[in-house]
Amino acid sequence: MTFRLFDAPQAEPSRFVGFAGNIIDRQSEKREDDSAEKALADPSSRLMLMGSGRILLKAGDDAGASSYFGVQEARALGADLANAVLLGTAPDGPVLAAPVATDEAGLPQTVKAMEYRPVYMQGLIDATALGSLAQGASLLAWHANHRFCGKCGQPTEMRAGGYKRLCTACRTEHFPRTDPVAIMLSVQRDRCVLGRGRHFAPGVYSALAGFIEPGETIEAAVRRETLEEAGIRLGRVVYHASQPWPFPYSLMIGCFGEALNDEIEADLAELEDCRWFDRAEVLSMLERTHPTLMVPPHGSIAHHLIRAWAEAAPPA
Ligand SMILES: [Zn+2]
Repeated sequence: MTFRLFDAPQAEPSRFVGFAGNIIDRQSEKREDDSAEKALADPSSRLMLMGSGRILLKAGDDAGASSYFGVQEARALGADLANAVLLGTAPDGPVLAAPVATDEAGLPQTVKAMEYRPVYMQGLIDATALGSLAQGASLLAWHANHRFCGKCGQPTEMRAGGYKRLCTACRTEHFPRTDPVAIMLSVQRDRCVLGRGRHFAPGVYSALAGFIEPGETIEAAVRRETLEEAGIRLGRVVYHASQPWPFPYSLMIGCFGEALNDEIEADLAELEDCRWFDRAEVLSMLERTHPTLMVPPHGSIAHHLIRAWAEAAPPA
């Protein structure tokens, strides 16, 4: 068999998922301990302000909201600029993210606090801003959850513009983490396996998913999760696309798996239901013409996995 290294299509599927549009130049090799401070002194800098799973949006002059604030505006809104992180440089200047209190009572009428999920699902900000939101929200959540050294228990301090925390007691450096999650569509001829989590919106069925564990390959995690959740053994597993997922700092890794057995044994502790869907039914769920059922919304990687399979030419 010939080894074809670049067999994938040129337009890589990850480009089309929500949270993938970040164009910030991270300049990761130039991060200095005072780089956030320096950026805050630059009048062209803009900030995203976030807290408690919500982001502040400013009413725009025309249609559409803006998720960026100037340094003075951020200060006036009570943003915690001492804990601002530098995301990098966009074409029009540095971009930072800073923690802020997001309770509506203290906000001016032109500013609204929105949870990340509706911002993403309703397309309230453009794709590049949504990509920056994923970067900023993930990083700020990591800081909020890692204020103390995991080794000696002493408080840690931010360094490298927010890309590191240092324990000044034992000198251990702590770096931002990204948690890999496998999300997979198991397919067999002209049908695929979809499941319903207990917390899903009414009528929604999706691809199965689970955290990748230490010491596990992506493929092994895909096989293990599919067997655990659906009782389906997988043969070949192929990678399709990935999606940054700021809830709080995951990377969704989307794969297809080749189902080897017919019988589904759903793990009903995790899933409310799990069954086979044929291609025609899945297409109607994608197009929202199905009378009762649907798949997750367009920006989600689950939607892209399901659509890529459903719209591919059926096997001869
Ligand atoms: Zn320590």
